[in-house]
Amino acid sequence: MKSNRDDFTKPTKCNLAKRVGYLCSNPECRRHTVGPNENPDKSTNIGIAAHITAASANGPRYDNNLDDEERTSSENGIWLCSNCATLIDRDIDNYSVILLKQWKEDAEKELYEKLVSGVTSSRVDNSGPFLEADLIWTHNIRFNKGFSPKNRKEKNEEIILIGANPIVFWELKWYFTFKIYNNSSFPAFNVSIKSKGDKNFKSISELPRINNIPALSPIDLKATYGYMIEDTGREASKRLRQLIPEELIGLEMEINYQDESRNDYLTTFKILENGEIENLRK
Ligand SMILES: [Zn+2]
Repeated sequence: MKSNRDDFTKPTKCNLAKRVGYLCSNPECRRHTVGPNENPDKSTNIGIAAHITAASANGPRYDNNLDDEERTSSENGIWLCSNCATLIDRDIDNYSVILLKQWKEDAEKELYEKLVSGVTSSRVDNSGPFLEADLIWTHNIRFNKGFSPKNRKEKNEEIILIGANPIVFWELKWYFTFKIYNNSSFPAFNVSIKSKGDKNFKSISELPRINNIPALSPIDLKATYGYMIEDTGREASKRLRQLIPEELIGLEMEINYQDESRNDYLTTFKILENGEIENLRK
């Protein structure tokens, strides 16, 4: 006996969900509808393949002109979270067929654009600009600032070089590009940086007082770091092999910026133990 409800098949439901990346199609919501379950063998789904026009004659937005096949086709479905699915069926005056079809089209278009541009959804969201910084080593130099008195033999007060590795005052210097990248589809305005804590670059170029970074674009600042050692050339080389000197580990910078409406944002940039970079937006 045929049920008088024209439900979607499992493949149709799955297709509707995948076409919007398992996100709710309501543009005001965009909730994730699938995720992990406590049971490692299971996943949790709070999404529903909702009918744009109802599956049965007394249901919301029922369209008498559709046949059974049309009523159960992907064309007549929209992927929503369970809250939004309840909402659209409770208030059919505000959630018309035209509106739901628009939601579906926009959600699919949005995902398609992310898919082809390769932009990750966690980075581009609807919550304003997101600046991230990276520290890119460009080169380093050591300056010989003269032999150390440690090489001097007291006897004749003359400088005796100890083997091929005399002790020298070396000035070691690292040069970096401090790249600030706007990893969002929103422009960032009035960007300013300041160091936090007691670790600092030796120098970093200043940003113009009035500036902006367009969406998905970088700006490059020049940063340097350096110090003196009284040691052998071998030791100097060894230290310079560290692309990020260990003395910079723990360095923290605050990047402040605004969106178009002058709301404030903050990214905290930090150099971690292993030389990796962390960017947290607050
Ligand atoms: Zn929703």
